[in-house]
Amino acid sequence: GPALLFVKTSQGKEEGRRFYACSACRDRKDCNFFQWEDEKVSETRLAAREEYNRNHQPFFTHRQNMDRYKNFVLLPLSKRRFCQECQQLLLPAEWEKHSDHQFLCDITTARLKSPSQLLYPLENKKTNAQYLFADRSCQFLLNLLTDLGFRRVLSVGTPRLHEMIQSKASQEEEFSVKSLLLDIDFRYSQFYTEDEFCHYNMFNHHFFGGEAARETCRKFLYEENGERVIMVTDPPFGGLVEALASSFKKLMAMWSETEKEGRDNKEMPMFWIFPYFFESRILDFFPSFSMMDYQVDYDNHALYKHGKTGRRQSPVRIFTNLTPSMIVLPEEEGYRFCTVCQRYVSSGNQHCEICNSCTSKDGRRWKHCVLCKKCVKPSWFHCNNCNCCTLQKHSCEKADLGCFVCGKAGHKRSACPSLSRT
Ligand code: SAH
Ligand code: ZN
Ligand code: ZN
Ligand code: ZN
Ligand code: ZN
Repeated sequence: GPALLFVKTSQGKEEGRRFYACSACRDRKDCNFFQWEDEKVSETRLAAREEYNRNHQPFFTHRQNMDRYKNFVLLPLSKRRFCQECQQLLLPAEWEKHSDHQFLCDITTARLKSPSQLLYPLENKKTNAQYLFADRSCQFLLNLLTDLGFRRVLSVGTPRLHEMIQSKASQEEEFSVKSLLLDIDFRYSQFYTEDEFCHYNMFNHHFFGGEAARETCRKFLYEENGERVIMVTDPPFGGLVEALASSFKKLMAMWSETEKEGRDNKEMPMFWIFPYFFESRILDFFPSFSMMDYQVDYDNHALYKHGKTGRRQSPVRIFTNLTPSMIVLPEEEGYRFCTVCQRYVSSGNQHCEICNSCTSKDGRRWKHCVLCKKCVKPSWFHCNNCNCCTLQKHSCEKADLGCFVCGKAGHKRSACPSLSRT
């Protein structure tokens, strides 16, 4: 799909030079596409690129994978193999080719219904960053959105939530929630039909399946029989917020366009799962969003998972455009309702009388600084040199330097709020 246009800025220069690079891979090792914006590309180079792309297509198409799946489920258990090296379901005629690969046998129907357990997580930090929800968090999300009355879930980069919905729907008759998975991980095309999974890049809103896939998504967003839609997304945390926001706005627009009469400027309901320190970036793009205190836990993330002894604090939160008071957080996990703020907060999050708000972002109890006129992390102290609260161990000059772009203190160039508008 399309590349993204970036800008290389160098210190002291007004304008940087613009270039195109891969939208999905932030590591040049994964994709080395690079082109200056004003660069003229020769016919030979174009042809070489097309050749490269042709040679790097997945071995089977989504349609072929579906046919293979149909044949696979007809096999007796003893003949159902999954190649761990190729991450692929094998038909008996293919065993020979994979004879020196590790494989799993006796793939039951139950295992086919939880592909996220069968496939290994692609943890490559800069591209896939596949961190799967802990069961507790996934269950919480699902209960929350069904309690809120949603019957359709657009799962953008949330394969485990999609999987939980799909398997519940196939097991329980009265459970009538539908899900459509949009994800860049094409391995999922082995397990889901074209109505259940679209190969999609959320950094440039690209549907690899073309117009047909786009139409699948559009149809899904059309709220037939009053089945209300919510989008849930859990992007890689290293992703560019502006690129994600731009794609999500396009998905929102797709939803708005499904209603001829218009939707009175209403937004498609959304849960964007992301670390709390991105709050201001997300609010820049979606002013209607607010951050919930719920801490989202993961299975395969060393830092963000539930420890054996007590819980480690996860920095990952839910951002939503739904009314905060409707997002009920579990009291058995220590969350409580603040009647002043009209939202559920962490047990450690104390309502500050001066700020008139529950100010903690990380779950710990924050303290109010009268000089800064706001609440700050418990580990911070007011530094009279820097004229703000910061860690006790810091060098005062550093804070003076400020941002290269706007010159203001408190953030680096990469997080400069004035960049978001260019
Ligand atoms: N917690 C979620 C998984 C989040 S990990 C769950 O348990 O369901 C991030 C997800 O985003 C992965 O599934 C990954 O394959 C997908 N992803 C990564 N880059 C993407 C991109 N550019 N476009 C679409 N999906 C992407
Ligand atoms: Zn193999
Ligand atoms: Zn409060
Ligand atoms: Zn305060
Ligand atoms: Zn202070």
